[in-house]
Amino acid sequence: MDRHRIGFIGLGIMGRPMAGHLLAAGHRLVVHDVNRAAVDGLVALGAAAAASPREVAERACTVITMLPDSPEVQEVALGEAGLIAGAQAGDIYVDMSTIAPAVAIQVSQAMGRQGVRCLDAPVSGGDVGAQKATLSIMVGGDQATFDEVLPVLRAMGRSIVLCGPAGAGQIVKACNQVLVAVTIAGVSEALVLGAKAGVDPATIVQVLGGGLARCGVLENRGQRMVSGDFAPGFRLRLHHKDLNIIMRTANDYGVPLPVTAVVHELFAAAMGKGRGELDHSGLLTVLEDLAGQEARTSVGGSR
Ligand code: NAD
Repeated sequence: MDRHRIGFIGLGIMGRPMAGHLLAAGHRLVVHDVNRAAVDGLVALGAAAAASPREVAERACTVITMLPDSPEVQEVALGEAGLIAGAQAGDIYVDMSTIAPAVAIQVSQAMGRQGVRCLDAPVSGGDVGAQKATLSIMVGGDQATFDEVLPVLRAMGRSIVLCGPAGAGQIVKACNQVLVAVTIAGVSEALVLGAKAGVDPATIVQVLGGGLARCGVLENRGQRMVSGDFAPGFRLRLHHKDLNIIMRTANDYGVPLPVTAVVHELFAAAMGKGRGELDHSGLLTVLEDLAGQEARTSVGGSR
């Protein structure tokens, strides 16, 4: 059997284009997802399909996962039909999902006992970064495994940094998600304030983008937010999941995150209102509800 394939599990908003780049770079792929349509999409591009994570591990010596959350990674990696049941000593497992750092360490240790080398390698850059292969990839693990996998990661990302031992990639990703969540909340408050005071929010996006307040959220989402376009992107429920991870991790380390805690509650409010499938910039709608004011531009239409 040809095991010089790369395995890829989790072919959603992020995984699908990432796996596509690996195919385009000339790698042979074996893929799996619980969603058959997602598998068929990659098979149409030249990938082989596998019925379980175990089969993926049997057919590939490097396996990548891009799954929603910690429980899915535990199931896919360590479950009965998981990677661990099909992997051989010396194989490499790279989890690129955003999960709890403690789970990344647990998976790395369990795999390590079978001689499988692990990296946690979560990403930022969103769906656009996945499509353009410009993701920022933050890696935890050992230097030798990182060096071996680097050419594969280069097909999907631009900035690829080894941050420390197992779990360190997930810690840096948690830091990233603190900043993005707090920034979305700040941008939302600014837009609602300006709108209620009678200024077109599109003007606010334009002006703030030219000074010290410029940021990725304004640049990538500002226009869409004031147009009421909240198609994901990054689903709000996944950022809420990340905030749950962040608050638990902060508690583990005894670090107070007072500002993030408030933003976490705003995300919880969005979830309670059934808005988890919106893009995370849809947090704006919660601030709008609180103020009784929509922040929509009059230029180019509103919702
Ligand atoms: P998604 O929900 O679009 O995709 C997840 C995929 O995993 C789906 O295709 C689903 O069918 C599959 N899946 C779920 N459980 C499975 C299982 N047990 N076995 C096999 N397949 C399974 O999510 P996404 O937006 O692609 O995000 C994936 C990960 O990347 C998440 O951890 C997320 O936090 C992180 N992330 C997302 C973005 C973004 O902008 N979307 C950016 C950075 C990081």
